[in-house]
Amino acid sequence: MMGKTHIMWGVFCALVFYYLYSDLFLIFRLYELILIFIFVIFGSVLPDIDHGKSIVGRKIKIIAILFEHRGFFHSILAIVMWYFLFLLLLNKIYVYAILFGYISHLFIDCFNHYGISPFAPFNKFKIKGPFYTNGFVEKIFFLILNIFNILLLFLLVFLNI
Ligand SMILES: [Zn+2]
Repeated sequence: MMGKTHIMWGVFCALVFYYLYSDLFLIFRLYELILIFIFVIFGSVLPDIDHGKSIVGRKIKIIAILFEHRGFFHSILAIVMWYFLFLLLLNKIYVYAILFGYISHLFIDCFNHYGISPFAPFNKFKIKGPFYTNGFVEKIFFLILNIFNILLLFLLVFLNI
């Protein structure tokens, strides 16, 4: 999957979650909601830190050199690692926001032909699907996500639903 698809999917999941559980967010101020949103987007591109040409991986090339793409950083263990790592730096709600985006990323990577290894580095078992990165299906998927996200954001901002 392309970074932009992961972002749009992360945004879509966050908006749907927000609509379903909006009561949970009543305690937050607007700037906190915006921060939560930004952290979801960050989490949705973070797993590809293990790819030298990805949005995050470009900035920290050493990780792509040391780790296999869609290996450890696309595993359950990585989620646990990030949880404790970010907990040292951030408020719990922002850590959850990052992990929400992160898990959304791993979920759609499961439909990619390359797949992910959820139990890496202990087990090489892979979950994979039929779709190719930046292939026709991904392009259509990206387009549909854009339409839905614009619609959901419109409802949120202008109709305050
Ligand atoms: Zn990925």
